[in-house]
Amino acid sequence: MLDTDFFRRWMTAAADAVGREAGRLTELDSAIGDADHGINMQRGFTAVTAALEKDAPDTPGAVLTLSGRQLISTVGGASGPLYGTLLRRAGKALGDDPEVSPAQLGEALRAGIAAVAQLGGAKAGDKTMLDALEPAAAALDESFAAARAAAEEGALATVPMLARKGRASYLGERSIGHQDPGATSSALLIAALEEVAR
Ligand code: ADP
Ligand code: MG
Ligand code: MG
Repeated sequence: MLDTDFFRRWMTAAADAVGREAGRLTELDSAIGDADHGINMQRGFTAVTAALEKDAPDTPGAVLTLSGRQLISTVGGASGPLYGTLLRRAGKALGDDPEVSPAQLGEALRAGIAAVAQLGGAKAGDKTMLDALEPAAAALDESFAAARAAAEEGALATVPMLARKGRASYLGERSIGHQDPGATSSALLIAALEEVAR
């Protein structure tokens, strides 16, 4: 079972990964966006770790909803409300259970992903974060390692895609040949999950 501390460690590991890879995320966003994805994610996850220290949420669901709220309120870019919705909706799905199973987490993430798709109007193949998140959530029923591999593969698979949502879509055909920044940060978040589960 996964307890509150597991979820706190996941968010902390995600913040570390985003901090480490901020330069790369911004570089990817400079090719097909406005060169701020690393900065956006870093600002958001710095606020997440600060809020988790300050408020000490006491259930897995509360860790995710608090984290989601921080992303929505601190990140100006599209990714803030989208990731914020993912975590808030997933947190809500976990309810106030003190411990949850990996299967419950998978179910909760799929609910969060559906909310992201509804908010942003994107679907698989549109070259967005969903291209990493959807296969990862599906693979989570198998194992954390399978989810990580699926997210990383999903992020790589965005390279030949034509962007149909977000800023990259303004580039049309010129978006082809570049990895999507949001799919890349999603792979980091899932890799952080696999790290804390190991
Ligand atoms: P902005 O584009 O506002 O500067 P970011 O650079 O932080 O925001 O985030 C860009 C990422 O957000 C993209 O790489 C993509 O993965 C994701 N994204 C943008 N629009 C959507 C959408 N409508 N649905 C899902 N993901 C999206
Ligand atoms: Mg951007
Ligand atoms: Mg921006």
